[in-house]
Amino acid sequence: MIHVIIFGAPGAGKGTQSQFIEQHYHLEHISTGDLLRQEIARQSPLGKRVQSIISQGHLVDDDTIIDLIANELHHLPEGVDGVIFDGFPRTVAQAEALDALLEKDQRSVDCLIELKVPEEELRTRLLNRAKIEGRADDTPEVIADRIRVYNERTLPIVDYYHRKGVHYEVPGAGSIEEITGAIFVAIDKSLQHNK
Ligand code: AMP
Repeated sequence: MIHVIIFGAPGAGKGTQSQFIEQHYHLEHISTGDLLRQEIARQSPLGKRVQSIISQGHLVDDDTIIDLIANELHHLPEGVDGVIFDGFPRTVAQAEALDALLEKDQRSVDCLIELKVPEEELRTRLLNRAKIEGRADDTPEVIADRIRVYNERTLPIVDYYHRKGVHYEVPGAGSIEEITGAIFVAIDKSLQHNK
């Protein structure tokens, strides 16, 4: 089983690239943002609890997120070759909890792929996405907050994975195909390394 984290600021292209990675390596795609949006759409108790947090661009509490992930990892479909985590972990506490969950099954994170995109480009992409998808958290004010939260709370996890020797950086600006190619090279390198 392989475990890949696709990492980057909001708008870096994690969702888009996850689809290609998922197909190429035959992985289960776990996106905490998608899972939370499904809960909101269903108006479940969890969905109701997190709705305003998400619409303000803040982070949902670690315990809620870790429960969601633990549940997903317990119910992986038969026959997948691993998992791609998208939008998770977003705090060091989540990264530590993920390690603990995987360790129970003698598993570990193979690589964190960081998509590096200049901040101005991120804002442009998110505003365009707002027009296309109409996500409630893609307004200019909320975008600014999400980027701030990313820099303050989420970026520190790069250091955490860097120290473990599993951090790989990929330029996230360029054509989608070029970026996908660079990601595959980085993942292959990490798998060679961990053999
Ligand atoms: P995303 O689709 O990954 O950009 O996530 C959308 C929103 O869901 C985020 O802005 C957060 O409010 C919430 N969210 C998603 N994943 C997490 C996470 N791992 N930890 C905390 N909040 C999250």
